[in-house]
Amino acid sequence: ANTYDVLIIGGGPIGLACGLAAQRAGLNYVIIEKGCLVNSLYNYPLNMTFFSTSEKLEIGGVPFVSISAKPTRPEALEYYRRVATSHQLNIQLFEEVEYVLPNEEETAYDIKSTKGVYAAENIIIATGFYDIPNLIRVPGENLPKVTHYYKDPHFYATQHVLVVGAHNSAVDAALETYRKGAKVTMVVREAEIGSRVKYWVKPDIENRIKEGSIHAYFNSTVQAIRPTEVDIITPEGPLTIPNDFVIAMTGYQPNFRFLENIGIRLSKDSKKYPSYNSNTMETNLTGIYLAGVICGGMDTHVWFIENSREHADKIIRHIKRREELRNS
Ligand code: FAD
Repeated sequence: ANTYDVLIIGGGPIGLACGLAAQRAGLNYVIIEKGCLVNSLYNYPLNMTFFSTSEKLEIGGVPFVSISAKPTRPEALEYYRRVATSHQLNIQLFEEVEYVLPNEEETAYDIKSTKGVYAAENIIIATGFYDIPNLIRVPGENLPKVTHYYKDPHFYATQHVLVVGAHNSAVDAALETYRKGAKVTMVVREAEIGSRVKYWVKPDIENRIKEGSIHAYFNSTVQAIRPTEVDIITPEGPLTIPNDFVIAMTGYQPNFRFLENIGIRLSKDSKKYPSYNSNTMETNLTGIYLAGVICGGMDTHVWFIENSREHADKIIRHIKRREELRNS
């Protein structure tokens, strides 16, 4: 079978950036993506505005033109799709990589996906962190009225909505649903709204809370969820409030089991940082690299598109250098 120089797992912005860099370097590559093109972005809230300005989301040096300084999700989908199609990137969609093993001679890797088998000398893992939500682990969390993926505010009009969390996703969900007529309560573990909330959104949420249009319980946690109410623990004691829907915006985590099954070492602390060389992005396994937001382990806010798109060039440079050394 054809042995690829590089097989890229994940067709998010950074997987695409790796594909562009590989193409430019004349390498034989393929990108395997388990969902649609830029699957994570596709699954973001429908009307989300990025916290980054458009030029900071650019990959492969292709200009990203947006109407406002900060692009919306639909604009980002247009951009990444046009980059992928105009460069005729070699991408297989709706195909999930299941495992990666060294081949018998240990000269390359065998890759098994839901649709086929591949061989590649190098692998780039750019699988992001949006597939596994951090659960709140309370009774009732598995009820159909609870979601970890908020999409569209209209659905919640006139309903009692509980938003859990106080970072960007939670604040966006609270404000959008409130503006479509939901009765919104927030439960926040910390004492205040998150400091990384988009600077132009933070005063909006703080003022809605201050005036009482959105109720917020700080230093509080959810204790149980039932079909028509929720129990919360507040500093003033336990409380039961009416509830129709829970939007649990408690973050996401990378698929650590996938990394461990491949043999990538993770730090033993709760952060589970994957091991890699920050100059080359190569992991503890020769020829297996990490790119994009997956590099941060549980610290999912550390890496984003702007500061991780350079991973693509670092990796491809290292692969080319090694190839040149081998051929010299
Ligand atoms: P992702 O975009 O998550 O791509 C990973 C891809 O891998 C996915 O498409 C996934 O389907 C695929 N995949 C996973 N496992 C497999 C497998 N086994 N086989 C095949 N494919 C697989 N960042 C910014 O820079 N600016 C922002 O404004 C911004 N806003 C954000 C808003 C929200 C709501 C969220 C959740 C994140 C935001 N981020 C933002 C962070 C953002 O997710 C990342 O910066 C960006 O998506 C990272 O790209 P990535 O390619 O590393 O990962």
